[in-house]
Amino acid sequence: MVNASRASRQPVENATGPQGATRPDIATPLVAWFRAEARDLPWRRPGFPAWGTLVSEIMLQQTQVARVIPRLEAWLTRWPTPRDLADSPPSDAVRAWDRLGYPRRALALHAAATAIAEQHDNVVPRDVDALLALPGIGDYTARAVAVFAYGDRHPVVDVNVRRVLARALLGQGGPGPANAKQDLPLMASVLPEDREDAAATNAAVMELGALVCVARSPACDACPIADRCAWRAAGYPEHDGPRAPKQAKFAGSDRQVRGLVMAELRASDVPVTPAEIAMVWPDAEQRDRALASLLRDGLAVGDDASGYQLPGGAD
Ligand code: SF4
Repeated sequence: MVNASRASRQPVENATGPQGATRPDIATPLVAWFRAEARDLPWRRPGFPAWGTLVSEIMLQQTQVARVIPRLEAWLTRWPTPRDLADSPPSDAVRAWDRLGYPRRALALHAAATAIAEQHDNVVPRDVDALLALPGIGDYTARAVAVFAYGDRHPVVDVNVRRVLARALLGQGGPGPANAKQDLPLMASVLPEDREDAAATNAAVMELGALVCVARSPACDACPIADRCAWRAAGYPEHDGPRAPKQAKFAGSDRQVRGLVMAELRASDVPVTPAEIAMVWPDAEQRDRALASLLRDGLAVGDDASGYQLPGGAD
């Protein structure tokens, strides 16, 4: 259900897209809204280090803000620079990741920290290509660090951004599957020339998608671009294009079993025996699949004879 009145739906046009298509100027009202209303989050405060931005972006990829903040603060207190993390064994990173989920991210962060310490003199690179060359750093994270840590002018696109752009600019109720060849030029087409305003626009579109233009029940009455939103202007037509795939149910899934085996490994100071792992889940086939995938991902090491533990050894 859309929370909106349907008055004054005339688009306000004064920007041009990459193929010459006229786009409404959504940047100006969004930046003003963002500067007045944005949440006070640690990574938005002046002086927040680029290393902190990199850690926060990786943590935020699959985990909610409220769960990330305390873990991020603890992480940066323990490892204030990439080299501090690189000097610790990967098992410490996986333990400190705790219950943020998708613990491969902890290993990726450890590998990236090692590369930054060894190849970049312990300074997080600014260049998108240099960031992309770090192990485990994808296109979104590289762009987010260049923009949010260094203030450079690049489009940054996550799922919230894609939803806002699909609605406001394309008149569709939701985004289709991610497609960087389309998503990045579309976001680039709304960025102001000024670097600072461009960075604020990226953050503002993301914030709008997280707080106002949410997937269900967007709060259009509180939206700073309601007067130029194409989907609203069209009367909120149903989204009938291809949809992003839905996430599978967690309960009973292999992901849940992986998480339980990981918790067992994290909690133990010594290698965990197959019999102990057998206690965490009744279905042997699922358990074996979970353990095999953890071994494949480098999140566990060992065998049935010597037991299993986190990489880099148990504490
Ligand atoms: S962009 Fe604004 S007006 Fe358009 S659907 Fe989202 S919240 Fe509503």
